[in-house]
Amino acid sequence: MPTLTRKDSLYNLGGNGSPETTSHSQQPAELFGQNVFSLPVMRQVLPKAVYHHMLAIYENGASLDPETADVVAAAMKDWAISRGATHYCHWFHPLHGQTAEKHQSFLLPSSDGGVMTEFTGENLLQGEPDASSFPSGGTRSTFEARGYTGWDPTSPCFLMEGRHGKTMCIPSVFVGFNGQSLDKKAPLLRSGDALSRQALRILRLFGNDKVTRVRTNVGCEQEYFLIDRKYYLARPDLVSAGRTLFGAPPPKGQEMEDHYFGTIKERVLAYMEDVELALYKLGIPVTARHNEVAPSQFEMAPVYEQSNIATDHNLLMMSVMRNIAHHHGFECILHEKPFAGVNGSGKHNNWSMADDAGNNLLEPGQTPQENAQFLVFLTAIVRAIHLHGDLMRASIATPSNDHRLGANEAPPAIISIYLGDTLTEVIDAIIEGQTAKTRARTYLNLGVSSMPPLPVHDSDRNRTSPFAFTGNKFEFRAVGSEQNVARPNMVLNTIVADSLADIADQIEEGVESLNDFNVAVQQVVQRELKAHRAIIFGGDNYSEEWHKEAERRGLPNLPTCVEAIPAFVSKQSIELFSRHAVLNEAELKSRYVIKLENYIKSINIEAGLMSRMGRTMILPAAFKYQKQLSSSISHAQKILHDSPLAEQTELLHELTSAINEFIESINKLDEARLAGEANGSDILEHARHYRTRVLTAMAEVRACGDKLEITIDDSLWPLPKYHEMLFLS
Ligand code: ADP
Ligand code: MG
Repeated sequence: MPTLTRKDSLYNLGGNGSPETTSHSQQPAELFGQNVFSLPVMRQVLPKAVYHHMLAIYENGASLDPETADVVAAAMKDWAISRGATHYCHWFHPLHGQTAEKHQSFLLPSSDGGVMTEFTGENLLQGEPDASSFPSGGTRSTFEARGYTGWDPTSPCFLMEGRHGKTMCIPSVFVGFNGQSLDKKAPLLRSGDALSRQALRILRLFGNDKVTRVRTNVGCEQEYFLIDRKYYLARPDLVSAGRTLFGAPPPKGQEMEDHYFGTIKERVLAYMEDVELALYKLGIPVTARHNEVAPSQFEMAPVYEQSNIATDHNLLMMSVMRNIAHHHGFECILHEKPFAGVNGSGKHNNWSMADDAGNNLLEPGQTPQENAQFLVFLTAIVRAIHLHGDLMRASIATPSNDHRLGANEAPPAIISIYLGDTLTEVIDAIIEGQTAKTRARTYLNLGVSSMPPLPVHDSDRNRTSPFAFTGNKFEFRAVGSEQNVARPNMVLNTIVADSLADIADQIEEGVESLNDFNVAVQQVVQRELKAHRAIIFGGDNYSEEWHKEAERRGLPNLPTCVEAIPAFVSKQSIELFSRHAVLNEAELKSRYVIKLENYIKSINIEAGLMSRMGRTMILPAAFKYQKQLSSSISHAQKILHDSPLAEQTELLHELTSAINEFIESINKLDEARLAGEANGSDILEHARHYRTRVLTAMAEVRACGDKLEITIDDSLWPLPKYHEMLFLS
């Protein structure tokens, strides 16, 4: 049997390269929302009164009674079955970061020996998955394993298409027996309520009595890599850890800056088109697509939606992107840093607040009155981020995002705000107001004088900021590409709600004592901006000087999960989240434990995998090359006994010491890992061990392995290399 070469064995695995393209005969507008039990569908299939009840739920969170649920369920079942659905499921976000679903058939045996279809209001409202296998962070023992999923009627049900049928998915919250949230959706919904309550107080103070609800809107820009699936399957690290644990930098990386916004390759475009059609059917308004900075890196973004729906849609989008990639012979990689030395992937989380009349509360207005209101909301955000920057950092802390943050391409782990030059000047003028009247600069008298018009996209000039004002929204850029955005948005909503509450209290007190609304607002805004000016930074967030300056300003620098995660259980956070009924102490503690457990488990898996790949893939290849080299030198010596072979012998020496160093580094890694596994008493200490000893040992193994990669015979190397994976044909 002929020996398989590297090219045969690795590069022809998996993925047949012939894309199963979808027929695109229907127009996007016809397809849009086809698989969603949306309000327009409800208007057609529900009795008028029931439809209006559902509308009220969407608009201001009215509750759903069992009788109405029965009517909705019957209509939903008929709609789903008529479109080919065979099953339904409660679709939820447990605390492990992925989505979960337990399918149930619509078919039931009937008493006459046949079958009938059934789906009741109760089936719609509540599911009862066994909760014992989902992370609970110690809030529940296995014997209290009952958990409930409950429909979130503010997010519409949708049909997920499989190869042979469809499943009706019911977006749900997931709670334990004792009512504690075991998911990411329930806290997000609670935080939205909290923000709405406090934002309405501010609007009422400004004399707005009409608005009944304030919502947050979110638009997620999703970055991702596409590589050939056959390469992916030949890399155990990509398959099991989502990132490459070995890989020398390619001779050509991203330094030519020729990929960003470049022409999209035909094969990639065909993939994007298929993804878009699938997303349109799910009612996801995806709009932007382009090449990103790194080779084989791309971005896709939908138009913003109400944050709960945007969160569900982003999770669905990631799942569709992964599935459809396989039809095109690709693997879609969502990890934050799949390739070292190449830009990582993030997910800019664009966030704003709007009232139920559709007015964006972060849009600077035309009149002094509107500007004053805008500045109050802006001040609340500045205050919130300054007081709770640690929580913002914790909300995006994942072991994979740690590799990206601060890696000179992504915002650092220090949270600050960028407002653009004009707005920063306005703020400084307000701060200086009372004392600087004699200076040439005119200060802004809130409610009386107007702000200068803000240049559109002023803040686009600073791409290094983790949290930037971009004209009428904030862009949280430190969010990881693979993350569920529920958590960062839940934190953002809660901290802003808390600041709005505090500012509303202060304005109310000011009005009482001063009897002048404008002066009261002016004083509060000035006092708060002055107190929290330190969080505003317009310079280069990547620079070393900023790190020093941030320290001087007292801003926390929490470089990894180990430093960041404890923010969830600080006294300040526990009080904050319970004040707004978003998370109680037990719920926060469970999240703290789950996040640290996840950190430990992820690094432990990576370390084990690295050792295994080193010993069973790289070392054998290195030994083969060593044998080749030594036998070639010894053969040459026999024939050319007079010729000096010093350089060649030197090569062999170098290779041998590189192999020795590699073995030594793996031995150290194994030691560190075993010491970690044995150390289980204090979870934070345990995590710290992985952050220090294990990650350091892994870096050493990688350096030694990558050195071997650029030394040994290319045809012997057992893994696809960066230049092969990153440049799609
Ligand atoms: P970029 O930041 O790359 O210039 P865009 O300006 O197109 O990208 O915006 C990116 C995302 O921000 C999109 O998803 C868009 O819908 C969303 N977005 C725009 N306006 C708002 C808003 N008021 N609130 C929340 N998201 C918004
Ligand atoms: Mg953006």
